[in-house]
Amino acid sequence: MLIGIPKEIKTMENRVSMTPGAVESLVRRGHSVVVEKGAGTGSGLTDDEYVSAGAKMVTVDEAWSAEMVIKVKEPISSEYKYLRKGLLLFTYLHLAADKELTDALLESGTTGIAYETVQLPDRSLPLLTPMSEVAGRMSVQEGALHLKKTKGGRGVLLSGVPGVSPANVMILGGGVVGTNAAKIAVGMGAKVTIFDVNHSRLQYLDDIFNGRVVTMTSTEPNIRAAVTQADLIIGAVLIPGAKAPNLITRDMLSTMKEGTVIVDVAVDQGGCVETSKPTTHTDPTFVVDGIVHYGVANMPGDVPRTSTFALVNQTLPYAMQLADKGLDALRANESLKLGLNTIDGKLTFAAVGEAFGMDT
Ligand code: NAD
Repeated sequence: MLIGIPKEIKTMENRVSMTPGAVESLVRRGHSVVVEKGAGTGSGLTDDEYVSAGAKMVTVDEAWSAEMVIKVKEPISSEYKYLRKGLLLFTYLHLAADKELTDALLESGTTGIAYETVQLPDRSLPLLTPMSEVAGRMSVQEGALHLKKTKGGRGVLLSGVPGVSPANVMILGGGVVGTNAAKIAVGMGAKVTIFDVNHSRLQYLDDIFNGRVVTMTSTEPNIRAAVTQADLIIGAVLIPGAKAPNLITRDMLSTMKEGTVIVDVAVDQGGCVETSKPTTHTDPTFVVDGIVHYGVANMPGDVPRTSTFALVNQTLPYAMQLADKGLDALRANESLKLGLNTIDGKLTFAAVGEAFGMDT
């Protein structure tokens, strides 16, 4: 199959959908790969590396004219002209939040397979997990940075020093983001407490961290008491398909220590802090009632090299199946089939149909 890798053009998007190593794997299986010139630059990957891997460097039009186009972000309006019947598009689509793109895919007859709806039998989302792993680890790094006085924080070193207590890190939600945040916070020597509503998840965390974290049932009184002692709070809850619950309410802020930092990773689902709002990497924080709020909605975007490799590690096996078998790959793999959102002008993903009152 001829596979196209266009350069990402969304603002501040520096990831690329295939690394040279991934290209080499596809070429070895007999596929041809065309890569838009400069597509890997933002992730520190050069055109020469792609050429050595067997790719041909081409213009944007040529990259999009391939049978299967693999991307990172959903097409933006200037890319709609490339959508067409017979095109297999494999990328993040997030259609439930984007009626214009849904219409563009349906009107053009494009076959759209969305990373975010590929689902394993245990209901986990393998192509979302790597970005949660990145955001979770990064949340503590960002929290530690913003706890510095010059960044508006309490002036606390996460690890403490001999004779001085380490910081208290409170993690709301012990899923992928929360577990990865805990790993880094524990590694940095902080005192870590993880809150979750799922008891078996707390049992699992208690087992794997073997006494190095405290687990707590996520109830309003438990959270209300803990925020008064926290130096860094990580928001990492998710209720699939719903807005995140407001676990930290505005009135709690006045009970907290001035300069406490909240990194609300769940901000992309509305945030789990009442006073959260989305921010950007260029201006990541704001202060409410003396509490520093960090709300960057695309945290992995600032570590594009790591994020590119983490994403491609997970997408490549599916990309290979699509390249080898075309749409027959969907019949052979139920998880991949769940990724199908649009085909031949028809919407095939129920949640998107529900969002827009459309038939699926
Ligand atoms: P996950 O499903 O793995 O984990 C969510 C956890 O929240 C689960 O363990 C669940 O039991 C728990 N939970 C649900 N309700 C709760 C409550 N009331 N109190 C405490 N815990 C509760 O999800 P994830 O992959 O860890 O993602 C977490 C959030 O981070 C999502 O909103 C995701 O979209 C977001 N995210 C943001 C970025 C970013 O750049 N800002 C990047 C990746 C992920």
